[in-house]
Amino acid sequence: MQLGKCKIVNKSIIILGGGTAGWMCANLLQHALGKFGFNITLIESPEIGIIGVGEGSTPHLRNFFSILGISESQWMPKCNATYKNGISFDGWSQQQGYDNYFHPFPSLPDRQTAGGFLINCHLRRQGHQVDSHPNQYFLAAHLSKNNLSPKPKGHSPIRINYGYHFDSALLGSFLKDFAIKQGVTHVTAKIEHVEQHLSGDIAHLMSDQGETFSANWFVDCSGFTSKLLQQTLKSLQVTCLTMPQ
Ligand SMILES: Cc1cc2nc3c(=O)[nH]c(=O)nc-3n(C[C@H](O)[C@H](O)[C@H](O)COP(=O)(O)OP(=O)(O)OC[C@H]3O[C@@H](n4cnc5c(N)ncnc54)[C@H](O)[C@@H]3O)c2cc1C
Repeated sequence: MQLGKCKIVNKSIIILGGGTAGWMCANLLQHALGKFGFNITLIESPEIGIIGVGEGSTPHLRNFFSILGISESQWMPKCNATYKNGISFDGWSQQQGYDNYFHPFPSLPDRQTAGGFLINCHLRRQGHQVDSHPNQYFLAAHLSKNNLSPKPKGHSPIRINYGYHFDSALLGSFLKDFAIKQGVTHVTAKIEHVEQHLSGDIAHLMSDQGETFSANWFVDCSGFTSKLLQQTLKSLQVTCLTMPQ
């Protein structure tokens, strides 16, 4: 089979870990590769559990849902989600007038003012007393200060960038349900041992009950334990794919 320019021979992928990373990865891989006959399996251990905290995203999460074709009306009500204009940093600096700032998610209209902001930042670093407080230059700070949504009611030609706030546990279970409905296989097991080929590549995973899980590709989403990448492959990289010979 040809996928882009890469010839794909092997078609099974195991994702180790069912936290945010695991279920996001499972959804994306199923979306991209399910149609090519790949089997995507996610293994997680309830005994180990997930971090399961955090409540906010940057605008990148919009791309994630857009790729999967999941509309805001589908996921937001189920995850108690709302829109997020940016991030407030209190106690940011000891400079008078700069003790806090609102980190914006810049939008197209900010192009009118962002240039002035950057010039003033540069001048200020050279000792000139000009205004370089980001809150003066980016729309997001004004929206937030006035409790306004980045999404206007009705039609607007201006698109404003935004992220989300949500209940991360609800989002996790939404992503899990969605992935399973799309065809991802969900396995509950605690992986205790990782068998490697002579080359060092991962051959299969073994659970504490003696079950063996083989695949052509393994993705490590096991969180801080980093069962595959750090414990097994001694890698310092955060994410990577490994493929046995
Ligand atoms: C206080 C706090 C606030 C945060 N706020 C935010 C925020 O606002 N926004 C944000 O984006 N992020 C935030 N984060 C970070 C976010 O919570 C984590 O990055 C994220 O939850 C990590 O998810 P994960 O899937 O990588 O790992 P985990 O949630 O740890 O999941 C690991 C998975 O691997 C499985 N696993 C591990 N070892 C094995 C094994 N041997 N066998 C089988 N399964 C195994 C576990 O069962 C689990 O399913 C915050 C973190 C903290 C601590």
